This record gives sequence, structure tokens and C-alpha cells, in this order.
Amino acid sequence: MTGMVKRVVVVGGGTAGWMAAALIAKVLGRRVSVDLVESEQIGIIGVGEATIPPIQTVNAVLGIAEADFLRETKATVKLAIRFENWGAAGQSYYHTFGAAGRNLAFCSFHHFWTRVRSLGIAVDYWDCDLNYLAACAGKFAPTTGNDPIWDMPYAYHFDSALYGQFLRRHCEANGVRRTEGRIADVTRCALTGDIGAVVLEDGRTIAGDLFIDCSGSRGLLIQQALRTGYEDWDHWLPCDRAMAVPSERFATTALYTRSIAQCAGWQWRIPLQHRNGNGLVYSSRHLSDDRAADVLLGNLDSPALDDPRVIAFRTGRARRQWHRNVVAVGLSSGFLEPLESTSIYLIQSAVVRLLHLFPHGPDMAALRDDYNRQSQCEYELIRDFIILHYHANRRDEPFWRDLAAMPVPDRLAQKIALFRASGALMPDQLDIFMESSRVQVLLGQSVEPRAWHPLADAPGEDELRHQFAQMAALKAQPLAHLPRHDDWLAATMGAARS
Ligand SMILES: Cc1cc2nc3c(=O)[nH]c(=O)nc-3n(C[C@H](O)[C@H](O)[C@H](O)COP(=O)(O)OP(=O)(O)OC[C@H]3O[C@@H](n4cnc5c(N)ncnc54)[C@H](O)[C@@H]3O)c2cc1C
Repeated sequence: MTGMVKRVVVVGGGTAGWMAAALIAKVLGRRVSVDLVESEQIGIIGVGEATIPPIQTVNAVLGIAEADFLRETKATVKLAIRFENWGAAGQSYYHTFGAAGRNLAFCSFHHFWTRVRSLGIAVDYWDCDLNYLAACAGKFAPTTGNDPIWDMPYAYHFDSALYGQFLRRHCEANGVRRTEGRIADVTRCALTGDIGAVVLEDGRTIAGDLFIDCSGSRGLLIQQALRTGYEDWDHWLPCDRAMAVPSERFATTALYTRSIAQCAGWQWRIPLQHRNGNGLVYSSRHLSDDRAADVLLGNLDSPALDDPRVIAFRTGRARRQWHRNVVAVGLSSGFLEPLESTSIYLIQSAVVRLLHLFPHGPDMAALRDDYNRQSQCEYELIRDFIILHYHANRRDEPFWRDLAAMPVPDRLAQKIALFRASGALMPDQLDIFMESSRVQVLLGQSVEPRAWHPLADAPGEDELRHQFAQMAALKAQPLAHLPRHDDWLAATMGAARS
């Protein structure tokens, strides 16, 4: 690919397509034209409802008001994921978006907690985390602007179909041209091999300089046209199917996603304003579809609103996520199961990366190589974080025993060993999951350090006990003034309407 990019063509109108089109049109404005092609006949995958806090940046960049977003997408607030039965059956822990306690410059809070534990003092790590306390109390309002000790980062659960329509309206108001139709073919430049245009079934063509492949797991351009190849990770992450079903909402809306480990996979529950989203992620080698349906439907706690539907997937990534003049975004770029709600974030991150490295000169190879290097690194870091959840289990079914015994990627093995030995963590530049996330999952699944940083030895035993009690009380202070989650949702959406 050479020269200036003037025409961007987005192939696909799922979450990836509309988010890519919205961000590119907003950031690059009139410097490029943005066309989006989608086929209603093919449709979208229609799952993907739990997010992580960077989604707030998408809304901010697009100028979307929170009240409009909540109302239009039937969204609720997410402060955490509650992992149930992952370490051992009957145990649960929260991976919150917050952070426990307060870190010192060279010594993080969990070192003090490790020492406290060694003294036999009963202190719950999460009692010093406001996200956890608010999630348990069912209370929420944004707390930003106060002391950082009371920061309460949050994300959303939303209806994925409504979210796509919401972004579509936003895009069309901002100059994105939408074409309805099924792509049957592409034209290629004989000299460079680049894609010149997509050709619809009825013969219409849409030409472009840069193509964003958001066609879902089929990878219409990146795989079917360019044959980029796929790297399979099922030896580390053996789940290959999901079964999804909506169910009636509960009277009170939880502030967290539930992830419940089951005999050969795990079940999600995502609370929305109008329903719950549910699904079972499982390994078809260990569980038949019929048995999966029994497990899923037997654990809904409210009536199902539809028949369950099966979605097959292949965990892994496209070998090159930017190849020739095609950038794969969304499910065409790869798949990681939704255990940590990372796919929509990966869409956002891919588009932001593309905007940073947007082609603008005669030789694009260096930009493309750097894009691919970063994408690979980001995917692998999330993959390893997901593997950690499976690997650090103490369950007793064959599926779980195999995962506990399997060799994990080297870097993950080093991270676990370092943490066990010293409580230290190995930061990686492109890792979306920072120290607090990793500590919560490690401690939550009983991977505990054998030692702590020397600075944690400074306070005497009584002083340490007192500091923990003080910290828990300090973190809990805002709870007295926070409204109930459902009341906050109603007030925020109602205020915007009036
Ligand atoms: C079981 C499951 C649960 C998930 N849960 C979460 C979650 O909680 N959080 C999260 O962040 N992510 C989650 N994800 C991932 C999330 O669903 C996807 O990242 C997101 O929906 C993006 O999908 P997409 O836009 O890439 O693909 P799709 O939604 O499949 O869209 C593909 C688009 O391409 C179009 N198309 C395809 N072929 C053609 C053609 N020939 N001509 C014209 N148009 C065409 C289709 O019409 C459609 O518009 C989950 C995924 C699965 C499988």
C-alpha cells in the first residue's frame, strides 16, 4: 500500500464495524471518506455485553452523553466480575476495576496484606476496595473528583444489538455512508495484491484505499481473500463453544458480571435494564450440547426468554492483523473467550492503534509491522491472563485437572513463580490488566506470596492491625452517601429526559 489514504471501507456492521467507523470518522473528519457495508441477511453475532472501563473513553471521544448511552443501550453499571467456584467449588472472589488500599512508592498494598496474613490476623483484602464494597452494597454514583483513594472506576453492561444501532445513528449523523448488501467478491491490484474494491452480489462495487475487515469470525477479507492464516490457542484454552440465552431481569440490578465455573467451562450472567444475558462457555470435548443446555438452563434463577443458541468459536488470532491494505478488527482479528470482557476493548484498542499509525506516506511497511507487533503483544498478554484463571484452579473434574496440570506460556509461568516467591509482579507495557487486576485474580485463586517487600515490615503488629481497620473504614466512607444502583440509573436517565 502506498500514498495517502482517502477512502476507508469498513466491511461489517457489528460492534466492531460501527465502533471503527465512528472513531475513524470522528478523529479524521473530512480527511477521509468512510463507507460501511453490512448485510442484514447475515446479521451480527449479537452477544458481547460486558465491558471494561476504557469504554468510557470511546463515549468521551465520540461526545456521547452518559444518560443517552444508558437509555439507548439499556445499560447498567459494572464495577467488577464476581468469580464463583473458580479456585475451588464453593469459593468466590471479585476482580474489581478498583484497587485495594493505597500503594506506597516502592511497596504495593498487597505486601502489607501478605504480612498481615502471616501474623494470623483475619483481614479480607477486598474490604479495603471501594469497588467491592459498593458492588456488595448495590450502591453506585460516580465518585471521580474526590480524593483518589475513593476512585471507583466503572464500565457498563449493555445490549449489544441496541449498542450497534446506537453507534449506527451516531455514524450516519457524522457522514459515514452505509451500504446494505452482501459482499460476494473483491478486486485485487495485479501489481501490489492490495484489495481495490468489494463487489456486492448485485454487482455494485465499493472501492477504497484502506479496508477495515469487521466481518466477524469468517474474516471475509483478512482470511478468505488474503489467506493470512490463523494461530490456534486451543491447547491452552480448550473451550470452543458458547450457548447463550436471555432471561428475565431481577428486581435489583447487580453491579457486577457473574462468572460461575461449571463442570467443563463457565457461565456468565450479565444484568441489563430489561433482561439478564446468560451463557455457558464450554469445551465440546468434555460436554455435549444437550448437557450444556441442561447446565445453562438449570442455573438461570429466572425464566428464559428464548431458546438457547450455540456459537462455535476458535480461540487464537490472525497471524497478521494488518495485512496488505486490510486491517482486521473485532472477531476477524481473533477470538479470546469473554472471561474478562476484553473483545470490545480489543476493538477500541485496534482502532486507536490504527489511528496512531494511520498510513500517510509512500512506505507503509514500518507502520504495519509496528501495528502487528503491538497487536500480537496485546493479544498474548490477555490470553495469558485468561489462562491464569483456568490454570490456578483446585477443582476436581477432568477438564479442570487437565488445565491445572498443563504447561502454560513461559512468560506466564515466570510471572506466577515470581509472585509466589516474592509478591512482585512483572509489568508489561501493553498489558491492559494492571497490578491490581493481577493481584486480585492470583489471591482470589489462592496463589499467595511466600514473602513480602521489606518495607511492609516497618509497622509493628498492632500498628498494622490498626492501619488495616482504618483503611477499611476510610474506603467505606462514601457508601453512606451513594444511592442504590437502580435509583441512580433511573435518576440519571430521567434527568436527561426532562
Ligand atoms: C459467546 C460470546 C460472548 C461474548 N461476550 C463478550 C463480552 O461480554 N464482552 C466483550 O467485550 N465481548 C464479548 N464477545 C465478543 C463480541 O461479541 C465481539 O467482539 C463483538 O460483537 C464484535 O463482533 P464483530 O463486529 O467483529 O462481528 P459480528 O457481530 O459477527 O459482525 C459481522 C458483520 O459483518 C457482516 N458481514 C459478514 N459477512 C458479510 C458479507 N459477505 N457481506 C456483507 N456483510 C457481511 C455482518 O452482516 C455483520 O454486520 C463475546 C463473543 C462471544 C462469541
